Amino acid sequence: MALTIAASDVICVQYIHWYVKSNIFSMVNFLIFGPPGSGKGTQSVKLAEKFNLSHLSTGDMLRAEIAAGTELGKRMSSIMSKGELVPDEVVIEMIASRIDSTRDRTGFLFDGFPRTVAQTVALEKMLNDRKMKIDSMLVLDVDHDELVKRLVARAELSGRPDDKDPSVIENRIDVYKEKTEPIINYCRERGIYQPVNGVGSIDDIFRRLSKYIKKLI
Ligand code: ADP
Repeated sequence: MALTIAASDVICVQYIHWYVKSNIFSMVNFLIFGPPGSGKGTQSVKLAEKFNLSHLSTGDMLRAEIAAGTELGKRMSSIMSKGELVPDEVVIEMIASRIDSTRDRTGFLFDGFPRTVAQTVALEKMLNDRKMKIDSMLVLDVDHDELVKRLVARAELSGRPDDKDPSVIENRIDVYKEKTEPIINYCRERGIYQPVNGVGSIDDIFRRLSKYIKKLI
């Protein structure tokens, strides 16, 4: 018996294909990682625009809470001005609410989150529960002196209190080494660690990062 395919069948298959592509399950998710001053924020804005990624920055979310004068913002501001990390539950909750309200994006670009192994485990669980995963961790490599130079220069423009005080800058770098850097090994074991040279012009670094994102989407 000859097999005939009706036009309605083709439309149906195309619809299923479109549905799966536009569905949250097909999202490709990246961590942009590196010490304070490594350029995560600058690069994230450009990458999110180019690749239609949803850019989730916990630093920006926390600063928005402070600017809005919320209770949470008031409680977090003294922790942030010392260069310490805010409690895991606070940022995990912020990210969870954004994940479920995001639609029609190629994936997520997590910036400044996770910052502890506990946050990483929580993020993996959140993604796994929604049939997603962390697809790649892009780590910007920048040496210590360059980081300090950039943060001091940024303080002039951003007015961020945590950029102004050299002892707070050093504390943020120490906190990164102690609490955040262990995530690199965790991701290396999962085969998703991708180091990227973070020194050079903004456009050069953008091209380097774009190359790795293109490979996965
Ligand atoms: P940077 O990477 O330039 O230091 P961010 O804007 O990512 O800055 O974060 C600023 C501050 O916000 C951090 O020093 C920390 O106090 C707080 N913060 C941001 N993200 C997190 C997080 N995931 N966990 C805990 N604290 C965070």
